[in-house]
Amino acid sequence: MLLALVILAQSPAVVIRDAAVVDVVAGTVETGRSLVIVGGRVTAVGPAGSVAIPAGATVVDGRGGFVIPGLWDMHVHATNPGLEDLFLPLLVAHGITGIRDMWGGLGLLDSARARIGRGARVGPRVMGSGNLVDGVPPIWPGSQGVATPEAGRRAVDSLARGGAGFIKVYSRLAPEVYRAIAEESKRVGIPFAGHIPTLVPATEASDLGQLTVEHLTNVLLGCSREEERLRGTVQAAVASRRGWDSAGVIGRGQVQALLDSYDPARCRALARRFVRNGTWMVPTITVLRSTAYLDDTTLAQDPRLAFINPGMKGAWNPKQDFRFRALTSDDWARRKATFRRQVEIVGLLKQEGVRFLAGTDLANPYIYPGSSLHDELQNLVAAGFTPLAALQAATIEPARFLGAVDSMGTVAPGSVADLVLLDANPLEDIRNTTRIRAVVASGKLWDRKALDGLLEAGRQRAAPKN
Ligand SMILES: [Zn+2]
Repeated sequence: MLLALVILAQSPAVVIRDAAVVDVVAGTVETGRSLVIVGGRVTAVGPAGSVAIPAGATVVDGRGGFVIPGLWDMHVHATNPGLEDLFLPLLVAHGITGIRDMWGGLGLLDSARARIGRGARVGPRVMGSGNLVDGVPPIWPGSQGVATPEAGRRAVDSLARGGAGFIKVYSRLAPEVYRAIAEESKRVGIPFAGHIPTLVPATEASDLGQLTVEHLTNVLLGCSREEERLRGTVQAAVASRRGWDSAGVIGRGQVQALLDSYDPARCRALARRFVRNGTWMVPTITVLRSTAYLDDTTLAQDPRLAFINPGMKGAWNPKQDFRFRALTSDDWARRKATFRRQVEIVGLLKQEGVRFLAGTDLANPYIYPGSSLHDELQNLVAAGFTPLAALQAATIEPARFLGAVDSMGTVAPGSVADLVLLDANPLEDIRNTTRIRAVVASGKLWDRKALDGLLEAGRQRAAPKN
């Protein structure tokens, strides 16, 4: 108790005076409010005239502004060495106060959290999966490939013991190994989430309890009249001597058939399945878009490349990436057609009541720390979300997903002090989330000048060293 008092006494209070507060649950705005923040928590919210301002508090003029809960990017790769210092401060600079890290050692997650906690690194709240669990050979070097149900169960046990927030499942898991992972996850009480494995139907993944589906993996296939046949062909290729190498080629050849056999009625049935099972979508429209348009040279003109170091910029060139190197101009055209269909599917799933989380897949080509989450919100609106629904996908929905609605996702007394003060109302135009006047992350205030300092430091870190 004494210790808590000492900490409270040491943390300078922050007051946002006379702002509008956006209620992201009800979709309403209350004007003329003041907020008091002490010791990392919101301690009071009320009419500007009646809220007492603690002595010595830093007061931010909120007039004309709109307070929203801090934003979450629910799909990033940001804690690996070399990425952490490049990305984490820039996330805060754009109002991202929480992230779900989708692949990295548990030790890296812990050390990032510790550095942020003691103030040695500016960064958001971090939750994550630790290493991702794939089949064999795994797609990504350094990820964990498991070949048998027993190995799958062991991977779940060791990740759960190590403190993983969830098990990240990946594309090449064999169906029987995936089922074992699902079963073991349920047994030890840890969620599993990620890609739906290529050979597992989306309906089965949802029925088994996969908690989130990233990038709409296997959803388009689940909307196809030819789902069984198309999967069967890939399955046969995987079982052949050349294994996943030949399956990749087959998969690429199926894109047109997938588009041609699209059936909205099947898609709606799949959506209702997701709703019934509580399966969340993290569509990462931003990365679906960038990886469909990588052949478009205007991507390489984006001024935000100033925040990306030369090594990463080089890796973003599709000619350097094994996933894209072999694609022909016809492939690129089909990728764009697929992207348009995926956007349509996001709208359809939303209409049916499927739950969504906003995520970007940061670290992938032309995804930028922080600013791309704002792009994702705009992409959700373009797919048919209201601005409120898009905002919810980055605030209250992540809080619900994390089981933390008592402390996150809204602006209320007792909630953690993760807030963004905007210059204009995001419910009127979702692009207003980019008009950031101030950010409060874990109770620490970043005014516009301090935020600009973070941006400038980000540019410096990314600049070529000579
Ligand atoms: Zn990812």
